Amino acid sequence: MEKIMIFGHKNPDTDSITSSLVMENLEKKLGNEGARAYKLGEINKETEFALNYFNVTEPETLEGIEEKAKVILVDHNDFAQSIEGIEKAEIIKVIDHHAVGGFKTTSPLYYLAEPVGCTETIIYELYKKNNIEIDKKIAGIMVSAIISDTLLFKSPTCTEKDVQVANELAKIAEINLNTYGMELLKAGTNLSDFTSEEMINIDSKLSTANNVNIQVSQVNTACIEDVLKKQCEIEQAINDFIDKNNIDIFVLLITDIINSNSEAIILGKRSDIAEKAFGKTIDNNRMFLEGVVSRKKQVFPILMENA
Ligand code: MG
Ligand code: MG
Ligand code: MG
Repeated sequence: MEKIMIFGHKNPDTDSITSSLVMENLEKKLGNEGARAYKLGEINKETEFALNYFNVTEPETLEGIEEKAKVILVDHNDFAQSIEGIEKAEIIKVIDHHAVGGFKTTSPLYYLAEPVGCTETIIYELYKKNNIEIDKKIAGIMVSAIISDTLLFKSPTCTEKDVQVANELAKIAEINLNTYGMELLKAGTNLSDFTSEEMINIDSKLSTANNVNIQVSQVNTACIEDVLKKQCEIEQAINDFIDKNNIDIFVLLITDIINSNSEAIILGKRSDIAEKAFGKTIDNNRMFLEGVVSRKKQVFPILMENA
């Protein structure tokens, strides 16, 4: 039995966790008994809500990776967002919906990418293509990821296909998309248990352009003002992170899931990049970004272009 490790990105979100679990299910149904899902960090509150709701156990944490280990990457391809040592593993498959960057293999591989809102939308098509039935639990965690990644279809990353697939899955999972969707997103806005240091790490990604290290974190909220009450403390945590990790510009997107806007806290010696990118000035280390909810589509590309 060949061991295959399946995992998403560091600081895992609902898509990374559930896509790993769902790919394990699919691979096993295709006869790859040795397939196993892992996570590269603690699950967040939103993911915890989804897994509890559908009574699914979270994957084990992957602590390290051996040379030549067979892996399937889901919901990422950039090595900067993967496990340390990934360059020495044998990547046999990638299922992803991000820009390709910081990725290189020595062996041929199966690479499936689509510009859709969620990895699960792509995996859904794999089930269809292989004529494999999706059960209620699997459908439930898949649709949770689509809701999460598309902010209940409001993100500009959301496509027709995501909406269609989510509706199909919602039927199998026996949920009402809007009711369950709002409950799920709200579960992710509960930041009360987190220190500022933890909060800026819940959903955080690094990209590099022109030798500029750009870190963008995102938290969802139903009330931006609530999060800003701790601005001072958050800034301290960000500045510590910047020092420790050699970051040139750090952007924390505080995303209002009700009104689909973000307030950004921006720090770092290259914070001028954000001013150039968005054509606005940073005031009190902050910038309001109207209609911005997608890091992938509305923040990273424009920052990288201006770096
Ligand atoms: Mg993700
Ligand atoms: Mg995703
Ligand atoms: Mg996300």
